[in-house]
Amino acid sequence: MSLARTFIIKSAALKPVESLVRNSFLFRPLVRRFIAGDTLAEAMAVAEDLASKGLGVSLDYLGENTRTRGEAEHACAMYIQIIDAIAKSPHRDLINISIKLTQCGLDIDAAWSEQNYRAVLANAASHGIFVRVDMESSEYTERTVTMIEHVFQDFKNTGTVLQSYLRRSMDDIARMIKLGARVRVVKGAYLEPEQVAFPAKPTVDETYIAMSKELLLKGNYPAIATHDERIIAEVKKFTAENEIGPERFEFQMLYGIRRDLQTGLRAEGYNVRVYVPYGDSWYPYFTRRLAERPANGIFILKSLFKR
Ligand SMILES: Cc1cc2nc3c(=O)[nH]c(=O)nc-3n(C[C@H](O)[C@H](O)[C@H](O)COP(=O)(O)OP(=O)(O)OC[C@H]3O[C@@H](n4cnc5c(N)ncnc54)[C@H](O)[C@@H]3O)c2cc1C
Repeated sequence: MSLARTFIIKSAALKPVESLVRNSFLFRPLVRRFIAGDTLAEAMAVAEDLASKGLGVSLDYLGENTRTRGEAEHACAMYIQIIDAIAKSPHRDLINISIKLTQCGLDIDAAWSEQNYRAVLANAASHGIFVRVDMESSEYTERTVTMIEHVFQDFKNTGTVLQSYLRRSMDDIARMIKLGARVRVVKGAYLEPEQVAFPAKPTVDETYIAMSKELLLKGNYPAIATHDERIIAEVKKFTAENEIGPERFEFQMLYGIRRDLQTGLRAEGYNVRVYVPYGDSWYPYFTRRLAERPANGIFILKSLFKR
């Protein structure tokens, strides 16, 4: 992981920095670039606009690491509201939801959080809607993979995310292929120690390609989630060479990043889904986006000093 990235993630965790970012109007345009709005109505408007252009959407109600049962119950009630809103949309076939197990209460009580997750899945299944479980830091990886293995026996409308920076991920790919659950491949957005994650970016990228190829050959409708044009080109070449049609996988990208690439791939006939976050708990998500591209943060720092 680059020094700039580590610096941004660590300094963003400091309370005075958080308060500055949350309260300064200077950050507003950048926050707006990555986050679709504060309310479900605003997020649905963005989702419908993207869907009207033929793009898929995964809605994310921002928030993670809930500390009380009340917070987790509130988050799961919001998930159910989102699912109900998707079910009423004219573009319902193109929109699904991404959730976090820590938002369902994983840090509070694992068995209880599984019940909450199952309640969300039951509601989504009644409408034929897919629920993706985002992958959080490595502290949660084993618990997430194991929970998917349990729950998938009863609900086929769910899947998860695996991160190519983790040393363990090729093994997790094998577990998910065996299960038949859908996987989104990402590089990984958290600060992880070398014992669990590859420190060198080229290794993360190589592993990303290896994981994607394995899933494209043997997995269930994998999602190739990246803005990395080299990887996208490699996936296009690999699928063409192996006669894997564009209906068997999708590309995914984040709201506000590389819109040109999103619409370009769609125009070429690929399925593309945009991950659309909304809600007022945007701070951790926002700092991960800044850390991925330190130039974003440097631009803000320069603006601060110019005033
Ligand atoms: C749909 C989706 C869902 C995700 N879900 C998860 C998850 O559940 N768990 C998890 O740990 N991570 C998740 N991520 C984040 C992921 O792990 C990476 O941190 C992120 O996608 C950046 O990596 P990259 O593959 O785009 O490649 P990089 O090598 O980081 O970037 C390639 C190029 O993309 C552009 N780019 C990338 N990030 C930014 C940015 N923030 N701002 C501007 N340009 C940028 C730049 O042009 C850069 O050169 C998700 C990503 C996507 C696209």
